[in-house]
Amino acid sequence: MPKGIAILGSTGSIGTQTLQVVAAFQEEFSVEVLTANKNADLLIKQAIEFQPNAVVIGNECEYEYVTEVLKNYPVKVFAGRDAICQVVQMESVDLVLTAVVGYSGLKPTISAINAGKDIALANKETLVIAGELIVRMIQDKGVQIIPVDSEHSAIFQCLAGETNNKIEKIYLTASGGPFRNYSIDDLKNVPVKEALNHPNWNMGKKISIDSASMMNKGLEAIEARWLFGVDTEQVEILIHPQSVIHSLVQFCDGSIKAQMGRPDMKLPILYALGYPKRMESDFPRFSFADYPKLTFEQADIKKFRNLALSFEAMYRGGNIPCALNAANEAVVHAFLYEKVGFMEMSDIIEKVMNTISFIKKPGIEELEETNLESYRLAELLLRKYS
Ligand code: NDP
Ligand code: MG
Repeated sequence: MPKGIAILGSTGSIGTQTLQVVAAFQEEFSVEVLTANKNADLLIKQAIEFQPNAVVIGNECEYEYVTEVLKNYPVKVFAGRDAICQVVQMESVDLVLTAVVGYSGLKPTISAINAGKDIALANKETLVIAGELIVRMIQDKGVQIIPVDSEHSAIFQCLAGETNNKIEKIYLTASGGPFRNYSIDDLKNVPVKEALNHPNWNMGKKISIDSASMMNKGLEAIEARWLFGVDTEQVEILIHPQSVIHSLVQFCDGSIKAQMGRPDMKLPILYALGYPKRMESDFPRFSFADYPKLTFEQADIKKFRNLALSFEAMYRGGNIPCALNAANEAVVHAFLYEKVGFMEMSDIIEKVMNTISFIKKPGIEELEETNLESYRLAELLLRKYS
């Protein structure tokens, strides 16, 4: 029986690459669910090609259009946020790949875990917001999270066969983004177009800005903390501009394992879909001749304050990472619309983190409140800049 996959956010960067992987392994995987937010045309095209059991369009205004075009196909059509939470629970779904952006990934992931589904996690924000809750839930339900993020996939692969061995440190590699060599002064007026232009990866807009501001690496540090059960002090960021060592684990004997590969998200996607099996692929192979020099640098936390803020949020814990994430979502949105400068984004995030009331062990409702409150507070602070 092929593995039944639900792809949340199938019209995005990770979603479309996941469908390319599935198309290359049709005997192994069947697409059961596809979801999009507002890109109805691409969702329809994907539905016709992959004939899933169900599709969900987040934006309810598009429901009639999608239903009309797909009326002669054996595909159920739903609309709205709640529908996404429901379709992930369908019996034919074995694995839910979460490739939506930001806070919107949280509830569908919880719903899928509640139904006992394994998760292929691309939506790192879910673990940033509610890592402690999610870890408890997956333990209770006996399900697995297989990371899709390339760094976490690398760590996950390094940890295979190391169940009882102590991790000393995780080195999360980072390309450094498009502004690695910029000075603080250069960064003050960078245009959106430059920030979107990542040197090694072609990604959605939000994560591209997060990569330029290094918030992506900060969020990934928190993601690693929950996925691998390590403390703040055990996670270190290592700038590696070539992006071919995807991360490293140092064990208690001082030995280090690294995972390497071409910078291509289809590799960690395939690993997550096939896990625990490695699928035989004809994807292009890595060539050492193309990378005669691999280099490493320390991260500059004075220039990229989001790194320091993320580690502070991770250290403080409770609802503070949720506040950091919400404020970041608000400022990235504003930056994309040229309503705030690149460096000012961190000022606002810091203010939100320091204003929001601390909750040590937040439940899901308290996280929802923190998210809303932090987003609104960031919007309020943004008014000063626009
Ligand atoms: P994209 O912006 O390219 O795609 C996002 C997808 O989610 C689209 O299908 C979009 O639908 C849908 N979506 C957006 N907002 C909502 C919402 N509110 N409710 C429901 N669906 C929504 O993002 P990426 O693919 O780049 O990133 C997805 C996730 O994966 C992020 O969390 C990111 O951090 C993570 N990730 C991405 C990597 C990459 O290489 N891109 C690498 C590692 C992790 P529509 O198209 O209709 O708007
Ligand atoms: Mg990553």
